[in-house]
Amino acid sequence: MVDADAARGIAARLAEVRDRVAEAVDAAGRAPGTVHVLLATKTQPLALVRAAVLAGGTLIGENRVQELVDKGPGLADLSPEVHLIGHLQSNKVNQVLPWTTCVQTVDSIELARRLATRALGAGRVLDVMVQVNVSGEESKFGTAPAAAGDLAARVAELPGLRLRGFMTVGARSTDERIVRSGYARLRDIRDATVGSAAAGTADATELSMGMSGDLEAAIAEGATMVRVGTAVFGARPAP
Ligand SMILES: *Cc1c(COP(=O)(O)O)cnc(C)c1O
Repeated sequence: MVDADAARGIAARLAEVRDRVAEAVDAAGRAPGTVHVLLATKTQPLALVRAAVLAGGTLIGENRVQELVDKGPGLADLSPEVHLIGHLQSNKVNQVLPWTTCVQTVDSIELARRLATRALGAGRVLDVMVQVNVSGEESKFGTAPAAAGDLAARVAELPGLRLRGFMTVGARSTDERIVRSGYARLRDIRDATVGSAAAGTADATELSMGMSGDLEAAIAEGATMVRVGTAVFGARPAP
């Protein structure tokens, strides 16, 4: 259990984040309600995640398969929408499917095929996004921007998957122009994919980009989903 103070703190910070998002949406001249807040809950204990869901944060993102599987049963009664936002190894595909509706981190056709096979076997359609490494930083996962359109087109054709859009972790830079140009690149990739009108690309409209420190920049460049951790939960406990 979390104490009432901790739960109130989470609710208050979530409200602050929603205010920041609303202001950024307005500043960008975009329509209200066009940006969803996903709570990045890595290393947060189940009790705090539950408090956040009860405060209205019904879209959750987990990074690690083990945490997804560990917290999944304890969240089931609140039925949040849970996405996988961390790297997925092919050999763990079967573990994630029961606990997620969307894998945001598809970065190879092999991984996409495995997910498709599992989803079909389970008689369902799994939402996916293609993860793109817009900054080119070596520490980051994701396909290269130049290869992203081709990968997306191939993923979109797979039965069992529904391509929902693109995800990136922005550049680690204090220069806002660098951060924004990466996000603009993801938007261009999304626009080209949807604009291609190729099979399965019509729903690929989402841009999952922006975190606690740079969500304004991401929203200015068209983010439809920002992934927020520390701004709601405070500093993360060590894993
Ligand atoms: C941790 C994490 C976030 C949230 O980061 P904060 O800076 O805590 O808001 C977003 N996306 C991914 C993929 C993450 O791993």
